[in-house]
Amino acid sequence: MFQFTPIGVIRSCFREKFGIPRQPGLAPAARATLELSPPYGQAAAVRGLEAFSHLWLVFVFHGTPPGRWQSTVRPPRLGGNRRLGVFATRSTFRPNPIGLSAVRLERVAIAGQRVVLHLSGVDLLDGTPVLDIKPYLPYADCLPEATGGFATEAPPHLPVEFSPAAAAFCATWPTDELRGLIVQILRQDPRPAYRGTGTAPQRYGVRLYDCDVHWEMRDGVAYVTEIQSDLEPR
Ligand code: SAH
Repeated sequence: MFQFTPIGVIRSCFREKFGIPRQPGLAPAARATLELSPPYGQAAAVRGLEAFSHLWLVFVFHGTPPGRWQSTVRPPRLGGNRRLGVFATRSTFRPNPIGLSAVRLERVAIAGQRVVLHLSGVDLLDGTPVLDIKPYLPYADCLPEATGGFATEAPPHLPVEFSPAAAAFCATWPTDELRGLIVQILRQDPRPAYRGTGTAPQRYGVRLYDCDVHWEMRDGVAYVTEIQSDLEPR
């Protein structure tokens, strides 16, 4: 009935779904680029865009298996045990797997036929196909009087600590961006709502860029035990 062609693809720090913040802006250090595909990769198509601090991205949840939507879902914010209508949530399992995120536009890079948007505060999986870009219009899109149903406030933060080895790994990065990103991800408590009742230590891993970040819960603290990278140290 309708057919859409992606205008570009996201390259982001998030190489797997686990750990991605549940909304944009929660991890300001989460970076991505959006390279426009031909024939959209032309300076004319983004003329004036650089004047906006934020953009709306309309994208496809390409990492969600198709055809698995249900009329009700269990939002993680409700502890995973209350069901709400799919249209009352931001679940990725939707009749049409379309996502919507407001992200920060850091800069627009144009070189010949290459147009690359540098973004931050993203909640997007690497490889996400983007269907459209719209500038964020504060006078129309910012609604301070809006109320938020089951998710009025941002969720509370977990404390995050690093082992000496993990801290040393972060220090090999040219900036403190990796450490900041890990804190911003883990303080959101990305653990699944269902965690079982076992007493074994809860160990988790998130993949950020080319790094496997190992962490566990210790007395209510998200403790980063170790970070491994496929690449040579920087
Ligand atoms: N802001 C968007 C997305 C909210 S859901 C919206 O409201 O529509 C956020 C979750 O989407 C993240 O936790 C991540 O796990 C998931 N996600 C991000 N990009 C995805 C993709 N390309 N495919 C499947 N899931 C994705």
